[in-house]
Amino acid sequence: MAQTVEQTSMYEVYALKYATRSAQRSANFVGGDPHDGPMPLDYYVWVIRNRDRLILVDTGFFQDMADKRHRSLLRTPVQALELIGIQAADVNNIVITHMHNDHVGTFDAWPNARFHLQDAELDYATGRHMACAIHSRAYEPDHVAGLIRLAYKNRIVFHDGDGEIADGISVHRVGGHTAGMQVVRVRTARGWVVLASDASHFYEHIQTRRSFSLVFHIGDMFQGYARLEALAQTTDHIIPGHDPLVMEKYPPLRQDLAGIVARLDIPPITK
Ligand SMILES: [Zn+2]
Repeated sequence: MAQTVEQTSMYEVYALKYATRSAQRSANFVGGDPHDGPMPLDYYVWVIRNRDRLILVDTGFFQDMADKRHRSLLRTPVQALELIGIQAADVNNIVITHMHNDHVGTFDAWPNARFHLQDAELDYATGRHMACAIHSRAYEPDHVAGLIRLAYKNRIVFHDGDGEIADGISVHRVGGHTAGMQVVRVRTARGWVVLASDASHFYEHIQTRRSFSLVFHIGDMFQGYARLEALAQTTDHIIPGHDPLVMEKYPPLRQDLAGIVARLDIPPITK
């Protein structure tokens, strides 16, 4: 039966910046980059919400990972949500796009949450490829073990490919960066927004069809770019996972949150 507009859920979507680090362009592309220079990474979690629902996408990391991996933690992801009036205990559903430390690191800070994860991601993070440092270096064994414990408590919701989280919110496995990398599609007032997370670290990766330097399957990475474009309303609706430009392109949720929380359900203010 066709849905009326009234029955169709729409959401606000926010990017919340919680950490940053400096990097060089040559380190951010497979094969390097002929025009080297600074290309810093920002670290985000994302919030999807309307009157009825609240979904957190990824959980970021705490100070331990910032120290170990030389990132600058600006605020914990829990503190970032508190800035917009959300307490950790309010969060019942979290999408984990993939299990790298910067996306799953605060998994134990959300006492009432269930975690939406691809079968292929837990398989990958517990399987043969972790014997190879190239593939394992962004994972933390303690995070992986923690998610396995949550699985035994029925707090993991497993998806295989495409899955619906709620009306107007779906996940889609694209692989590439990791074997079980998934992206999130959200219905908003401006059309379908897609949170690419690390399916495209920067705008430049998808726009120039190059891969970030850390990649499991480069063919799937490129197929993933096409999938992102098919899922999103336009290319302006694709939100990369680590690009500082996101905070410049989108308006802040409130003026006092400029550079910290951006509204992604509103059209970009710059190209
Ligand atoms: Zn990442």
